[in-house]
Amino acid sequence: MNYEFCDVIHIEGLKVFAHHGVFREEKEAGQDFYVNADLYTDLREAGLTDDLTKSTHYGEVSLLIGRCLTEQTYDLIETAAERTAEEILRQFPRVRAVTLELHKPHAPIPMEFSTVCVRIHRGWHRAYVALGSNMGDSRAYIEEALRAFSTDPRIRVEKVSSLIVTKPYGGVEQDDFLNGVVLLDTLYSPAELLCKLHEIEAAAHRERTLRWGPRTLDLDILFYDKLIYEDDNLIVPHVDLHNRDFVLKPMAEIAPRFRHPILQKTMQQLWEELQAREENGGRTGEEGKRER
Ligand code: AMP
Repeated sequence: MNYEFCDVIHIEGLKVFAHHGVFREEKEAGQDFYVNADLYTDLREAGLTDDLTKSTHYGEVSLLIGRCLTEQTYDLIETAAERTAEEILRQFPRVRAVTLELHKPHAPIPMEFSTVCVRIHRGWHRAYVALGSNMGDSRAYIEEALRAFSTDPRIRVEKVSSLIVTKPYGGVEQDDFLNGVVLLDTLYSPAELLCKLHEIEAAAHRERTLRWGPRTLDLDILFYDKLIYEDDNLIVPHVDLHNRDFVLKPMAEIAPRFRHPILQKTMQQLWEELQAREENGGRTGEEGKRER
C-alpha cells in the first residue's frame, strides 16, 4: 500500500436496524446489525491544519452506512457490505480503501454464539489502459471508449495522453493507427476490468478476424497498480509493452517516472531504450508487432 494511505479513520460498533436475511421472518421483523469500518486515507494535511475539509467526516460516512443498510433489503450480508463499501469509496474521494465488517449477532444460528460477520477490503486501483484504432473514424471510437470509462460509476478517468498516429506492424497491409493511453482509477478487479474493455470493444463492432489486422478499437490493460499476474485470459503487466513505441511514447508523456514492476525501469527509460534500439538497426523477431 502507498505510504500516504496508511492512515485510518476507524468507526466501531455502529448500530443499524435493518431487514437483511434469507428468511422471510428476518425481512419482516428486522434486527440490529453492527458495522466496523476502517477508512484508509491520508490524514497528514488535516492533522497539520486542523481543517475538516482536508479530512473525511466520520459522521457523514456513518449516516451513509445507515442509509445503505436501510434503503434496500438484501438476502446476504455479503451484498449489503459490498454495496456499502462501494458507496463509501464513490462518495468520499479522500478514502482510497475501506475495510468493512458487517456483524449480524442475531443471525439464525441454532446454537449459542456471540456474533457472525463478513469482513471485506475494497479500494481504488490505478490502471493504465492502451487505446488503439485504425478503422473508420478512429478518433471517434477512442473518444467513445473514453466516454464509456467516464460514465462508469466504478471508473474515474485521471489522465489521457495525446493521441498519436503510428505505423502498423505485423506485415498486414492496413491504415495507420491512432494510439494513446489512459490512466484510470477503478473499483474493478483486473478480470472485471478486462470484461469491461471487451464490452466497450464489442460496442465499437470490433471483430476478431485477422491477427495484427485492422481493428475499430483495441483496449489493453498495461498495468494494474504494481500487480504481476498471469492466467489464461490476462497477463499484467502487458507482456510486450516494453517493445511497443505506440505504448511507450504516450506512457512516457503521462507517467514518465512510473516504474515497470518486473523490468524495474521507468517509462521514460524504456521509451529511450526502445528509440536507441530502433536507431541501431530496428527491432528483431516479433518485437514491436501488433500482437497480444
Ligand atoms: P486483443 O485482441 O488485443 O483484444 O486481445 C486478445 C486477448 O488477449 C484478450 O481476449 C485477452 O484475454 C488477452 N490478454 C492477455 N493479457 C491482456 C491484457 N493485459 N490486456 C488485454 N488483453 C489481454
